[in-house]
Amino acid sequence: MYCNYCGKVIQDDANLCAYCGKRVAGMVARKRLVRPREGRKVAGVCKGFAEYFDLDPTLIRVVWLVCLLCGIGFVAYIVAWIVMPEEPKMLPAPQGSMQRAPGQ
Ligand SMILES: [Zn+2]
Repeated sequence: MYCNYCGKVIQDDANLCAYCGKRVAGMVARKRLVRPREGRKVAGVCKGFAEYFDLDPTLIRVVWLVCLLCGIGFVAYIVAWIVMPEEPKMLPAPQGSMQRAPGQ
């Protein structure tokens, strides 16, 4: 890949550019473990995990429910609720840009 700052070719898995020393990891749109604002049932923890691991939210909820019944899910859910940041609020796109005709 290329460094976004100096444009030199650097290692694909590099965190820092070897030439200018700038941090390059995380510049790509990386998946983050967040609690989505849309489609949440309780706090969005299950949905967040589902989106992060690319799994069906229902599957996560079922697994979580099983853990809950075993007595470990409740604490885990509360911990996840606390540590997982809420998804940043989506700002409406400026008029005219990012708009596509329906059906495309
Ligand atoms: Zn650089």
